[in-house]
Amino acid sequence: MQLANNTIHRTHYNILNVKEDANQEEIRTRYKSALLTSHPDKLQQTTNSNHNDDPQSTFLEILTAWEILGDIKSRALYDVELRVQRQEGVIADEIEIEDLTVEASGDNAVVELLYQCRCGDYFSVDSLELGEMGFIVFMEGNKLSLRAQDSADMASIVLPCGSCSLKIRLMINQDTS
Ligand SMILES: [Zn+2]
Repeated sequence: MQLANNTIHRTHYNILNVKEDANQEEIRTRYKSALLTSHPDKLQQTTNSNHNDDPQSTFLEILTAWEILGDIKSRALYDVELRVQRQEGVIADEIEIEDLTVEASGDNAVVELLYQCRCGDYFSVDSLELGEMGFIVFMEGNKLSLRAQDSADMASIVLPCGSCSLKIRLMINQDTS
């Protein structure tokens, strides 16, 4: 299954599930645990059936992410690159999961999450895309929540508007209490 990679940029930090201001030690720890949980041999037992990623490519993504983030110099370069990429569109606002409107699509296993942009179109992401990024969408009655498959304290996803260049940052608070 091919994901529209242009709409949501998955960073090396997302892949290792580590905060962008994490220190090298944290990155190393995350890398090791990511490696363990994503090892092709291990994946078959641990992931649920709607995991569409090719285990081998996830594994390679983790290796690549570590190659870049594990080295202070290449990490610094990558940080600059990320900042430049993000400046292309202005982040209009920061929102939380509760602010999103939920829309079930035709395939009822997939929910689409929407937030209206000031241009009239929507910022959107669906549960499949979130799954690719390591988040599981939960519906409890009408209340929506997101959980990371591998828990991180805090994560955020930048969502692009369907029409204009504005972007919005969805903050995902991993309440571990
Ligand atoms: Zn817009």
